[in-house]
Amino acid sequence: NNYYFDVSASFLEESGEILLTFYDLTEKVKLQKMKKDFVANATHELKTPITILKGFVETMKNDGVDSPYLPLIESNIERMARLINDLLILSRLEDSKVKKIEREETDICQLVNSIALLFKKKAESKNLELKVMCQENLFFHIDRFTFEQLLINLVDNAVRYTEKGYVEVLCKIENSRLLVSVKDTGIGISEDKLGRIFERFYVVDKSRSKKSGGTGLGLSIVKHIVELYSGEIIVESRLNKGSVFKVYIS
Ligand code: ADP
Repeated sequence: NNYYFDVSASFLEESGEILLTFYDLTEKVKLQKMKKDFVANATHELKTPITILKGFVETMKNDGVDSPYLPLIESNIERMARLINDLLILSRLEDSKVKKIEREETDICQLVNSIALLFKKKAESKNLELKVMCQENLFFHIDRFTFEQLLINLVDNAVRYTEKGYVEVLCKIENSRLLVSVKDTGIGISEDKLGRIFERFYVVDKSRSKKSGGTGLGLSIVKHIVELYSGEIIVESRLNKGSVFKVYIS
């Protein structure tokens, strides 16, 4: 059995004694854990029916079933699958067991290039240039899964919210910190919205986000990961000009 306490101390001038007050947080912490476990389990359980539904749609297509509803069913299944995937990642990141990231010395250029490759087709289909600028022999201690998720979400957004121009991923060491910056020449974010983009399910333009395959969870995943590294994230953006997301990791 684990018990959780908060403690505060105050000095009583009259008697010269110190008063320690203990607050029992056990129930509160247990409840929080139950809530987190519930989300993780529910999300995990949703994976199976989605996979089965996907299979049925494939079978219907192979059987030559022709219905105007089929593409709609398919795109909604895809959307649900993306949501479930993002929720699972979020709950995994919030899990106290994962809170300590396991870092390993990693070839950052190689990793960044392999992530950029995932978006090559999508960028080409939109006529966007996808540039990777990486300092040579850039090795840094990172945790592979979280670092990949960070990059995937930032590059995915940059490609989704850019209609012309380029997306540039840059990595270098700055004052002995690793800087990863993802820059685009896309639609940008107005100043009054910038403060909210890291909130869960917050999207600036609902229909645009949905149409481009967004879940509203990408940047909240990014924020969680930056916190795991005790890093820093800075966003600069101008409406209709573009955005740059800079992440610093020590
Ligand atoms: P979504 O799945 O909707 O893209 P995110 O959490 O990744 O959700 O981002 C939140 C919102 O921030 C997006 O809906 C979008 O409005 C805005 N946003 C994120 N990245 C960019 C970008 N590179 N350019 C313009 N807007 C962006």
